[in-house]
Amino acid sequence: MKTPQPDILVLGGGVIGLSCAFELRRRGHRVTVLEQGRCGGQASGAAAGMLAPFAENGEQPDPFFLLCLQSLRLYPDWQLAVKETSGLDFEYARTGSLYVVYHEADSLVLASRKRWQDAYGARSELLDAAGLRRLEPNIAPEAAGALLYPEEAHVYAPDYVQALEEACRRTGVVIRDGLGAVEVARWLDGVELRASASGETFRGDRLVVANGAWAGLTESVFGMRIPVYPIRGQICAYETPDRPVRHMVFCSQGYVVGKRNGTLVCGASEDVAGFDTTVTRKGIARLESWNGKLFPFLSGRRPFHEWAGLRPASQDGFPLLGATSRSASVVFAAGHYRNGILLSPATAQVVADAIEGRETAGLPLGAFAPDRFGD
Ligand SMILES: Cc1cc2nc3c(=O)[nH]c(=O)nc-3n(C[C@H](O)[C@H](O)[C@H](O)COP(=O)(O)OP(=O)(O)OC[C@H]3O[C@@H](n4cnc5c(N)ncnc54)[C@H](O)[C@@H]3O)c2cc1C
Repeated sequence: MKTPQPDILVLGGGVIGLSCAFELRRRGHRVTVLEQGRCGGQASGAAAGMLAPFAENGEQPDPFFLLCLQSLRLYPDWQLAVKETSGLDFEYARTGSLYVVYHEADSLVLASRKRWQDAYGARSELLDAAGLRRLEPNIAPEAAGALLYPEEAHVYAPDYVQALEEACRRTGVVIRDGLGAVEVARWLDGVELRASASGETFRGDRLVVANGAWAGLTESVFGMRIPVYPIRGQICAYETPDRPVRHMVFCSQGYVVGKRNGTLVCGASEDVAGFDTTVTRKGIARLESWNGKLFPFLSGRRPFHEWAGLRPASQDGFPLLGATSRSASVVFAAGHYRNGILLSPATAQVVADAIEGRETAGLPLGAFAPDRFGD
């Protein structure tokens, strides 16, 4: 006789919760997503959507970089599966990225990045000022060079998350949104969650904790340290129908990425502001100043759209991924900070494997153990 599949409750309907739900459902599990507001209505819908493990991790091939890299390599098949299952299209553009420097001496830093990253398949190319200008004719004359990563890509995050939600619904994931805060009432042997506003109760066998920047609020429930905090990212977009920027362009102070719909997305601040998603003039003015230094055609222009989201930052910069030693019922998927869009396919794989009692091969998962911070 076939063993009955467990009922899995996913707390949080951001890109991480939805990706885990989609993967678990594809593997035949019964899944319910519980979301306090709107799916994708928090950090996931606010993101720039860059899939950039090399540009974002310049220091060393640590476990976080390896996870990011694995996720980038999963993206071509993953995004196709989301599109095919949902019937919805979204932008997935393999434009490559450029990490730009302003001083020739900084090219030495790029050369050392290139050395270790090429060993991991980056196929990067060191460009001098003239080479950079050939690829990005509108770049500032002060730019001294860049490192080109041809493999890096980006998605249009709000559309990607919407397609994920639809893919979940079409495959039979139950999505309950607009619930108000959902509380964990029982988790040691079986799981019970309660919507605080209505009192409605949800029971299951397993719980995936994917509540983003709110994960730290569940510390007392699980009796262990969960040092995950909201870091506000303010971000803006210009209308640029003539598509003046061809690649994702990074510098030490921010990034610029041109979208298929003719907008140029520029980010992002890193503010400690609690759970406040207000956009401030100071935050956007700083972005405007740097955007103009990178691309002079932006000098003096005001973005047509400004917004903010709460990145889930963890104390050591690594996400909390996998089962805890405290209860076989609970699996964590939180704390993805600046890279949750990139990390969504790899996270889904690790979480689904953990639910099935397996460890995903080829990843140093010990570094992401959710209970590594102690009681
Ligand atoms: C400005 C900005 C730019 C970014 N750019 C990029 C980028 O280019 N590339 C990239 O990879 N990443 C980027 N990120 C990071 C990325 O957005 C996050 O890492 C990712 O969205 C985290 O996903 P999540 O599902 O964990 O969190 P969220 O999207 O915040 O989802 C968590 C969900 O849990 C729900 N929730 C919380 N508590 C409860 C509760 N008690 N009951 C029910 N529901 C609850 C919330 O309402 C929310 O919907 C960016 C982030 C920001 C803010």
